[in-house]
Amino acid sequence: MKKHNFYAGPSVLPQYTIENTAKALIDFAGMGLSLMEVSHRSKQFVAVMDEAQQLFKELLDIPDGYSVVFVGGGASTQFAMVPFNLMKKKSAYLNTGAWAKKAIKEAHAFGEVVVVGSSEDKNFNYIPKGYTIPEDADYFHITTNNTIYGTEIKYDIDSPVPLVADMSSDIFSRPVDISKYAIIYGGAQKNLAPAGVTFAIVRDDILGQVEHHIPTMLKYQTHIDKESMFNTPPVVPVFAALQTLQWLKKLGGINAIHKVNKFKAGLLYDEIERNPLFTTTVPDPDDRSIMNICFVMNAGYENLEQEFFDLASSKGMVGIKGHRSVGGFRASTYNALPVESVEALVGVMQEFESLRK
Ligand SMILES: *Cc1c(COP(=O)(O)O)cnc(C)c1O
Repeated sequence: MKKHNFYAGPSVLPQYTIENTAKALIDFAGMGLSLMEVSHRSKQFVAVMDEAQQLFKELLDIPDGYSVVFVGGGASTQFAMVPFNLMKKKSAYLNTGAWAKKAIKEAHAFGEVVVVGSSEDKNFNYIPKGYTIPEDADYFHITTNNTIYGTEIKYDIDSPVPLVADMSSDIFSRPVDISKYAIIYGGAQKNLAPAGVTFAIVRDDILGQVEHHIPTMLKYQTHIDKESMFNTPPVVPVFAALQTLQWLKKLGGINAIHKVNKFKAGLLYDEIERNPLFTTTVPDPDDRSIMNICFVMNAGYENLEQEFFDLASSKGMVGIKGHRSVGGFRASTYNALPVESVEALVGVMQEFESLRK
């Protein structure tokens, strides 16, 4: 049976990425060796790294004055790297969920942390608005897409201080004005590659301003200076990331995929609103993510949750269980998820409704 992969991360990847990576695991670049067993300093792999960085910049339209680095450690290591590299005395954060909270926790080790707004009062089901960013903060940190709760800041905000964004789960899903950000980072395993590689887009002039010692591996400048080759990079995930970037370019780039993403999310949100058995967990449409779509059984139908889950599973739907802190269902509709998978899920929701009549 065809599977429909709604996992939140690691998650669906383009068939192009999976097939090319599988081939390279057997024979990389015609070397007669596996991608797993060649030096990262071989000219064949250096070419992969160069093209990945170049395509990353091209697709996101990254202006001059920014560097792209690929490192290990996941987005979770970035939670500490950001304050380590930028924080002199004070930083500001927007608390929009579990990942934002983890980032805030790490910053506390470096000085004063101002949480300018929080949606914790409503289990993070909205994006706080009308907050004030302190002008003396060294930076302001946001999580653009809240993978667990299905909320998203879908626009580039204006910040009076350098803006830092965790874009783990919405990078490459929509156009972003990079020039408004000092640092954008994320784990690759949501929309780009298998787990193991983390990207950071860093405005070069933001670095070198803190006085404390930064451990070599946690210093952005180390990785920028050596073009992500200071130590052994995660070779296989970087290769896979390059395949996804090539796939995205062939598809027409960010604007083209953004249209598809909006279409897919629209299909599902419309059905959630229309179908009396289901309801959204994010009331304000402006705050709804186009990457992670959360919904629950409507009032009066709560006892049908397992039944719907079983029906959906029997039709090949995988990974639709909501995160334990929200419950219900979460369909992740990342770039590589085909429109047909969303149509299939909508079909199961309609079938479930007709079974109750
Ligand atoms: C998944 C996720 C993380 C954690 O990423 P790791 O690479 O596992 O450390 C952080 N932030 C967001 C928004 C995420 O979705």
